[in-house]
Order: sequence, then C-alpha cells, then structure tokens
Amino acid sequence: MTNIKYYIYKIIDIVTQEFYIGCRKYEGNPENDNYMGSFGENTWQPNPDNLEKQILGIFSDKVEAYQLEEELIHKCREKFDNCVNGVPTPAEFFIEDKSGENSYWYGKTRPKETRDKISKSLIGKGRTKETRDKISENSSRYWKGKTLTKKHRDKISKNNSRYWKGKKRTRETREKISKAISGENHHFYGEKHTKETRDKISENHSSAKQTQCLQDNCCNNKIYNSGKKCAEAHDMKSSSVHYHTSGKAANPKFKFV
Ligand SMILES: [Zn+2]
Repeated sequence: MTNIKYYIYKIIDIVTQEFYIGCRKYEGNPENDNYMGSFGENTWQPNPDNLEKQILGIFSDKVEAYQLEEELIHKCREKFDNCVNGVPTPAEFFIEDKSGENSYWYGKTRPKETRDKISKSLIGKGRTKETRDKISENSSRYWKGKTLTKKHRDKISKNNSRYWKGKKRTRETREKISKAISGENHHFYGEKHTKETRDKISENHSSAKQTQCLQDNCCNNKIYNSGKKCAEAHDMKSSSVHYHTSGKAANPKFKFV
C-alpha cells in the first residue's frame, strides 16, 4: 500500500506577514517534508530566513486537496492583502489528464509558463521588433498585475465573484475553508512569539526604518519614513523593498539610512 498524501501548506514571512498557499503531493508524513513553497522569484521575494511553514490540511484524496487549495487561494486573495498568491491554477488541471477536445485547456488561455515558452520560441525564430516589443509589453503587463494595487484588488474581487457565480460548495467544504483561514488556524492566533522571533521582527521591520531609494532617474534618491511608504511610492510590495534593504540583492535598489 502506498502512503501518498496531498497536503495544503502556507508559507509565512513572519516579518512582513505575507503568505503563500500551495498544495503538494508527498509520500510519507507531510510534517517531515522540508519543501518551502512553489512561488516564483518574480512573484514574491521574501527573506528566506523569515519564512515559516504551516500545514493547513492533509488529504488522501487528490481531488479534494486540489479543489480545496484552489478555493482557499481564491478566498485568501479576496480577504487578505498579505496573500501573495496569483490567480490559482484551476484544480481540474491537476485532476484530469485528457487530450484534445476533452482537455481542460481546450479553447482556453494557457498559463504563464506555457505562454512564456511560446514567447521564447518565437523570439528564438528571429521575430520582428514589433513582435518582440509586443511580447515584452505583454510580459510587463502581466507582472504589473502582480503588485496588489487597489485597482488590481478590485479587479480580483470582481473576478472572484465571477468565479463563484453559479458554483456550489458543500457545507463540509465551506467549513474547512473557513477553519483554514480564520480562528485557530489563522497564523498568530493565540500564538506567542519566541523572544528570538520578536527580536527578528523588530530588528528587520522595514516599516520602522527610514528607507532611501538608490535608483537613478527615479525619485531623486528620496528618503522615506518607512519601508512601507517607500514600497507604496514605487508600487511594490513591502517584502520586495525589504529584499533590497536586507542586503540580499546583488544590486540593491533601496537601503536603510
Ligand atoms: Zn525611487
């Protein structure tokens, strides 16, 4: 008998409080899995030292796990500003393996990874400048949407409503979701930080430190009262600014003053 489990995890940056949700197949006890998340570097650049992992649920049933993951991500994106997940890949993609007209992707837009591969192969074949510009424009438009500005959040909320329209969830599923995103499972609920963690948070917290922009032709190297203010001015996430101020970036764009 195999011991394959599917589990939903949450990776939390204990300093910025940002978190990422994912689902993973694991043979054995998921508590022993030291995997730390499938977020792309371009999407989220947390300081690895500040990451903590929580297991939100363990399932034997693949369908249940991936459906719950998809719903959880939709919910969290709607509910929490500090959720860094992009639009979730539909659970059907993981569950069904069909080809042709029966394929889940038939007539649908492919995810970014596939689009990138297609773009790359087009570039490789020596496309015109016009085509290259278009690809690069599409790509920057894609990444622009990754910073969660108010406008973007409104759009997500609209998309989410569209996603939920006409969909029914069982009471059981609804209960699982609400348990996973609130109350005792919500991170920090009833949890006391160790002294070490508290020190790390106060020491690292970019929002408490003056932050200067080091970029040319940007904002005249302005000094902001906090990392958060600096992030807002540059339409970035606080964690991205923190990545630069923490000394991890090869060419830092910001520094503490
Ligand atoms: Zn600047």
